Amino acid sequence: MKFKIFKKKGYQAYKTKDGNRKTIYSRVAEKKYKYEHIPKGFIIHHIDGNKNNNRSKNLMLLHQKDHYRLHVKKDIKIEEVKKK
Ligand SMILES: [Zn+2]
Repeated sequence: MKFKIFKKKGYQAYKTKDGNRKTIYSRVAEKKYKYEHIPKGFIIHHIDGNKNNNRSKNLMLLHQKDHYRLHVKKDIKIEEVKKK
């Protein structure tokens, strides 16, 4: 499958069948976490801070509140859970 890549708020995005623009990271994260759509109130965080690093490993599903704490208040530190 070949996508034409757009930019949506600085993120790489592609056009879906119904003509909407969808960010690549949300698609990747949906696959990673096995959701059809990212649940309301949750946000995909780019672990390395690079908006265009859409690799599954770089994406983390966080509750909005935790995401806010991570970026704005910086009072939590999230480490990747290592697989056994
Ligand atoms: Zn983030």
